Amino acid sequence: MNYHNVQFEASYGTSSQLPPSDLPEIAFAGRSNVGKSSMINKLFNRKGLARVSAVPGKTATINFFHADGIRFADLPGYGYAKVSKGEKRRWAELIEGYFAQDRDLRVVFQLIDMRHPPTADDLTMIDFLIDRELPFVAVLTKADKLSKKQREERLAALERELPCADQIIKIPFSAETGEGVDAVKAIVAEIERD
Ligand code: GDP
Repeated sequence: MNYHNVQFEASYGTSSQLPPSDLPEIAFAGRSNVGKSSMINKLFNRKGLARVSAVPGKTATINFFHADGIRFADLPGYGYAKVSKGEKRRWAELIEGYFAQDRDLRVVFQLIDMRHPPTADDLTMIDFLIDRELPFVAVLTKADKLSKKQREERLAALERELPCADQIIKIPFSAETGEGVDAVKAIVAEIERD
């Protein structure tokens, strides 16, 4: 995969607008502020591909882009307390609609802030992925913010905190240092070969 060949496709605010799934697809999911935009921009080496915001809870959309025959879906961040009920409903419609479609979804990169236990929303999302038997990998973000000791502690704790933890691939990731980029790209490369 030549990550420089990435092209932004479009943003969608309702699931009925989503284009048909005509390419192998990889999705990115996580709560607002987990570092999803930073991860995407790091992978593709493009500052503005996904919008990094200091203020979380921007309008929920699914953003599609593609590179070398694979489509990437940046799912809207969840769990931002200050959004209205209407906005939460819209988010739920969008994300449930997305997963209900018959898409060629190969993997979901499920982001979790490595510094903290998974939130209730993270666990809801992970349970959902497990229930639907959707393949996913846990990307543990902001790894650079932890000391060696804290990192060991969090990795051990996640074994208790995540359902089916022993079966989940976990990739510590940092958009600052580039840690985890190669591991994520190896998973994408495997999908490309399929
Ligand atoms: P999103 O809402 O999930 O897209 O999160 P963003 O990518 O916008 O990141 C939220 C905040 O966390 C921003 O202030 C980022 O600079 C910061 N951030 C994201 N990833 C990292 C990381 O790997 N390391 C550090 N130290 N900060 C990060």
